[in-house]
Amino acid sequence: MQPASLPPNEVERLASLRDLGILHTPAEERFDRITRTAARLFQVPIALISLVDADHQWLKSRQGFFEQAVDRTVSFCAHALLQDALFVISDSHLDPRFADNPLVTGVPHLRFYAGCPLKSRDGYPLGTLCIIDDKPRPFSEANQESLRDLAAWAEGELNGRGLLHAALEGIARATKETEYAQSETRAILDAVSEAIIMITPDDRTHIVNQRFSDLFGIHPEEVLANSLSEIRPFLERVLERPDILNTLMTSTLMDDSTQFSDLIAQRYPEQRQLALFSAPVKSMRDIHLGRLFVFRDVTHERAVDRMKSEFVAIVSHELRTPLTSIKGFVDLLVSGETGELQEEQLEFLGIVKTNADRLMDLIDDLLNLSRIETGKVELERVPVDILPLIRATVETLRRQFEGKQQQVVIEAPPALPQVLADSDRLIQILTNLLSNAHKYTPAGGKITITAQAMQEQMAVSVQDTGIGLSPEDQGKLFTRFFRARNRSTQEVGGTGLGLAITRSLVQLHEGDIVVRSAPNEGSTFTFTLPFAEKLNLG
Ligand code: ADP
Repeated sequence: MQPASLPPNEVERLASLRDLGILHTPAEERFDRITRTAARLFQVPIALISLVDADHQWLKSRQGFFEQAVDRTVSFCAHALLQDALFVISDSHLDPRFADNPLVTGVPHLRFYAGCPLKSRDGYPLGTLCIIDDKPRPFSEANQESLRDLAAWAEGELNGRGLLHAALEGIARATKETEYAQSETRAILDAVSEAIIMITPDDRTHIVNQRFSDLFGIHPEEVLANSLSEIRPFLERVLERPDILNTLMTSTLMDDSTQFSDLIAQRYPEQRQLALFSAPVKSMRDIHLGRLFVFRDVTHERAVDRMKSEFVAIVSHELRTPLTSIKGFVDLLVSGETGELQEEQLEFLGIVKTNADRLMDLIDDLLNLSRIETGKVELERVPVDILPLIRATVETLRRQFEGKQQQVVIEAPPALPQVLADSDRLIQILTNLLSNAHKYTPAGGKITITAQAMQEQMAVSVQDTGIGLSPEDQGKLFTRFFRARNRSTQEVGGTGLGLAITRSLVQLHEGDIVVRSAPNEGSTFTFTLPFAEKLNLG
């Protein structure tokens, strides 16, 4: 039978907890979680974790109305601790051992008590986890088992395993959060209408979304498991000109600054026009993580575009006829053949003529573009030596370059393979790029034209030291009527059609054109052309 109060020699067995440093740990949520769980699990008004030593009993965590710890000599917890086992009082009023215990007779009024000792790792008594009720209640085997489990949890926390536990919990929480964020990102990536793939600088495919797999008919896992070089044969199967994409991808993988966009044709599993946008991906600490390639299906847009071009072609043609007549009659009036004109009349006619000429230039540009876009321009492609053609084009613009003291340099090896091109159109391409370089480069700048035989095609670059272009503007550069918003562009005239025409002409030659630029750091436009020989053999 247990005594109502602890004999002094027993109390001595409960040596100082202060020595263990446990009492100095502040009340923490981790202990409250255990008492909360106990109160809820057993449906009791009070659940406590107390620390007991030779002098005191401290409450480490409390659920319910117990405000302060009781004298350890009458404490049921001390009994539980000394008994070294689960200690249960189902109804204190029926238990003669506690007839005079103030906890039973006084307030609060304890009828039910179940407490489990908590020990240190080496068996040292530390305290108890207990539940208390002011009504009597049975406590089944299963209940006892559950209380022991909770006590083991509390013991773990007291013994410092809580730290590990907390760390593990933290890791689990962080893992969960990461998993959540990942699944959220995946859901967002899968919800967009563009096909997305990210390739790391070491040639690994890092991210690929559902749309990529839908568009190209390949499972994301297949792409993710492979390196870029491994998925190259796959790109060759699905794209009309895989070499272009390959070149773009491989040459820009390590490039951590340039954005570019392009249009590529897909042939499998469907004929599609894809707009490609690529940008480097950087971490928050500015580390280059890889390159993102975004493909947008623009087949429908392009079809609508074509219809628009046809419309523009018809309208332009209809405008050209009366305008030609206006110009003709103005010329006739100015020539004086229809009678002498006064000075003011001549001046006004001069204004009419200038504006009619501008209008004619615009209409010609529009016609030019819409003819190309609607497939009405047929090239006469023959083997061409590009270097003399470059020189001749530079020569026709020499006066303009000299007017701004711009230095023009041609860099090319003496012997270059011939390209298959329509000379007139090639001159048009070069003229557009060179006159842009001239227009958008301040006086005294330098323009470098480079011709270089690449593995499969000729690459021609026009590089300037001009105002450059923002990444945003680069994305829109080849669209009709686009003119960058900067002072230089406003100062020099233009229709915003030159580059659209240039790109269409390059594409008609089965080549491609890209731009690399940065604001105030100049621009480089590079276009490619097929070699004459290779195509002849084909
Ligand atoms: P524009 O008739 O306006 O020159 P383009 O189609 O040739 O039309 O060019 C479109 C826009 O691209 C220009 O208005 C200009 O803002 C920008 N641009 C073209 N070439 C260059 C260049 N070499 N450097 C800087 N900006 C350029």
